[in-house]
Amino acid sequence: GGSDTKEHLQGLSGEQQASVAAPLGTSLVVAGPGSGKTRVLISRILHLVQAHDVAPHSIAAITFTNKAAREMRERLEHALGPEAAAQPFIGTFHGLGLSMLRQASSQLPAGCRVRPGFSVADGDAATAMMQRLVKSTAGIDIRQSGARTSAEQKRTVAKQARIILSAISRMKNSVPGYAALKGEQAMLRELMQRRGTELTMQNKIMAREMGWWYEMYRDSLAQSNAADFDDLLSLTVTLLQESEAARCALSRRFHHILVDEFQDTNATQYELVKLLAPVDSLQKGRRSLFLVGDPDQAIYGWRGAIPEQLGERLRTDYPDLKVLTLRDNYRSSSTILAAARAVLGPQSRRLRPMLPHGPALRLHSVLGPTEEGELVARQIRRLQARHGVPLSEVAVLVRTHAQTRAIEEALVRHRIRYIVLGGRTFWQRKEVQDVLAYLRLALAPWDGVALRRIINVPKRGLGPATLAKLEAAGEGSIARALFPPAWPLEGGVEGTVAPTLPLLDRGALGLSAATAKKVEAFRALALGLAAALRSMPLHDALAHIVEATGYLDGAKDAAAEDNDEAVADSKDGRAVGATAEDLPSASSTGEAKEEETAVTLRRRLGQLVEVARLAGEAGAPGLPVADLGLEVESGRDERLEGVRAFLDSCALDAAPDGGEAAARRDSVRVSTMHAAKGLEYAAVFVPGCVEGQIPSPPRENDGGAALREERRLMYVSLTRAKQHLTLLSFLLPSRFIKELEDSGCVLERTEHEDSERRAPHRSHRAAARYQRSRRLNRPEESSSPSVLVADIGGTNARFQVWQLDDVLRPSRLILEKFLPTKD
Ligand code: ATP
Ligand code: MG
Repeated sequence: GGSDTKEHLQGLSGEQQASVAAPLGTSLVVAGPGSGKTRVLISRILHLVQAHDVAPHSIAAITFTNKAAREMRERLEHALGPEAAAQPFIGTFHGLGLSMLRQASSQLPAGCRVRPGFSVADGDAATAMMQRLVKSTAGIDIRQSGARTSAEQKRTVAKQARIILSAISRMKNSVPGYAALKGEQAMLRELMQRRGTELTMQNKIMAREMGWWYEMYRDSLAQSNAADFDDLLSLTVTLLQESEAARCALSRRFHHILVDEFQDTNATQYELVKLLAPVDSLQKGRRSLFLVGDPDQAIYGWRGAIPEQLGERLRTDYPDLKVLTLRDNYRSSSTILAAARAVLGPQSRRLRPMLPHGPALRLHSVLGPTEEGELVARQIRRLQARHGVPLSEVAVLVRTHAQTRAIEEALVRHRIRYIVLGGRTFWQRKEVQDVLAYLRLALAPWDGVALRRIINVPKRGLGPATLAKLEAAGEGSIARALFPPAWPLEGGVEGTVAPTLPLLDRGALGLSAATAKKVEAFRALALGLAAALRSMPLHDALAHIVEATGYLDGAKDAAAEDNDEAVADSKDGRAVGATAEDLPSASSTGEAKEEETAVTLRRRLGQLVEVARLAGEAGAPGLPVADLGLEVESGRDERLEGVRAFLDSCALDAAPDGGEAAARRDSVRVSTMHAAKGLEYAAVFVPGCVEGQIPSPPRENDGGAALREERRLMYVSLTRAKQHLTLLSFLLPSRFIKELEDSGCVLERTEHEDSERRAPHRSHRAAARYQRSRRLNRPEESSSPSVLVADIGGTNARFQVWQLDDVLRPSRLILEKFLPTKD
């Protein structure tokens, strides 16, 4: 091309230009944080369009989060104009998978049991489903496991469900394709045994029955015609492996595949890459595969990511692979880079800082989480006042969700606006989920997940006993019992609704006259909603749902008691596990403390209606669920497809969020370290740099792999900062802090006045003192202390713990680590 086609190379370094302009075929850019990998990837798209005359339509760029996808599209819009920028597929692996399945699910082998019009069960729905399975099928075992109180039983159920789900998830993410769907018991058993320590605590029966659990779970999904998040990947792989037609359609559509954050792809995603860009097609000519990544930033090993794919594996699969590298860092001050490198160790990739020295690293030692939150808030105010750092350029990065509470409380006290990234988003709010469940039900009454969620919300007297009767009558499916003849439960005919439903046979169902009346009222309601959805625009239908269900009247009392319950169960303060956080998600509001009043409910549901209205106007509901033009399926009802697409983007957290995030544009970001990947901020705070938190407690027999991953996680966290970096610790400072101190990085240190020089053998005293201070600070909580009994040096020491989750981790750590030391 001429000089006008070189725009995309402007402002890039020589190395970066070389990467952007690498010939077609397979390229891999391996480079450290802040070296411009993502920027290069975006320029590469422009390069393809401008220098190679590639049709934007034939490009697929895969990002790690929907947020990254949105940013990428914005930047493309800037360069290419809105029309051309809308054509490439830009989204996550999950978004791509869902788009493909939507358009070709009829091509799936029968064994997959997912039919056209399927719904997506998000993390909460999957958890609820698994908990129900555990409860109903293992009830006896749970009682036998020694759990006495109902709270204890509930915890046991939640824990079992979590273990089983994460084993299933690991399997789906590590055995690509059809094999994964056959419920291979041996594989599952092996996976479960690797987590054996946790299992034996509760119940060994579960381990032996894993294959059975898998099938129960799969059946339960199939009954609702639902796919979970992992299915979006594994079913897509299956689809492409099994269907020639789908493969051809896909290869007609996409000629150029680009993947950001490649180091964190798991086996199933890698398989998908190979299916998207088969090596023989690349060798033939005008096609390309462009991958960027950094093995030093691989932090999703716990979710099955295999960073090794960056190396030999890729070279074997793509013999023509060209490896490029970038050596300059444009993001961080040299001070920050030196610190980050000290944590990762000398083997880490060396980066040339392009920025000069910055402010010194700050290291604060405090008494505990409360003081920590307070200090963070004050420091944020200081940065704002003294350095003019806007709130949106400040991030607080935590290792676990449990840490956010103290931080949020402090930010609220100081009236600092904040949002929680990767936290409970607009789309995961109870009321939003409830109304969407009604929508799903109106669209497809066999959606048992949705049906169960709202059949008694608001309360209409359809309790567990009634549901059990209906379930028995429908052979495990309430939907089948309620809507037998009128709606086809097996086919995919969504467009038809019977005008009336024949009454149920209440005698056969064993229902009393009063209950039967309530059931009939619910059926009539469902029928009415289905009809409404087919006769009015989506946003009107949503408003109608809120109205017709009496949701706001009923929600007031219910909101207080069970809001966020499912998630609370799955986030018991451990390192992030396979829960809602798994799916990279968009930003969300962090009003954890907001009162769930009828006013807020009404406001949020109003926002939901508004989002739907705007989506309808734009004609494009969710960004990453795209029409791939595969043309494998036909004869679908277009308007209902639009509703489906709207629900899809909500499920993927990819839809705009009712303006909540926009309203908080000038807000501090509170985020887990994992969710901060790829992002950058002028100022970064890392609270809770405490042994047992970062790094989290070591697992046995993993040869130090977990610790290495924790190291990389710390490295990722520190390299998010451009200028200001503050680390906070208490009790037992993380070994990473020690390493920073030893490395001679420029440090500015403060110690809490009360804290004495810590030596490990004194730490339990510090813990006791800390707990005393908590008691003084929070007299209102002193009425019900928990007592922790620990065997220290042969004596039974008793710790009284007022805020168990605050102190348990460090206390436990002290017990684990320092027992041998006599004091
Ligand atoms: P990470 O590994 O953390 O995802 P990355 O390698 O993707 O980092 P980018 O986010 O692309 O890095 O770039 C880091 C920052 O450096 C961005 O603000 C980007 O705009 C800036 N940058 C990249 N290249 C240049 C350049 N040649 N000149 C000036 N700034 C640059
Ligand atoms: Mg990046």
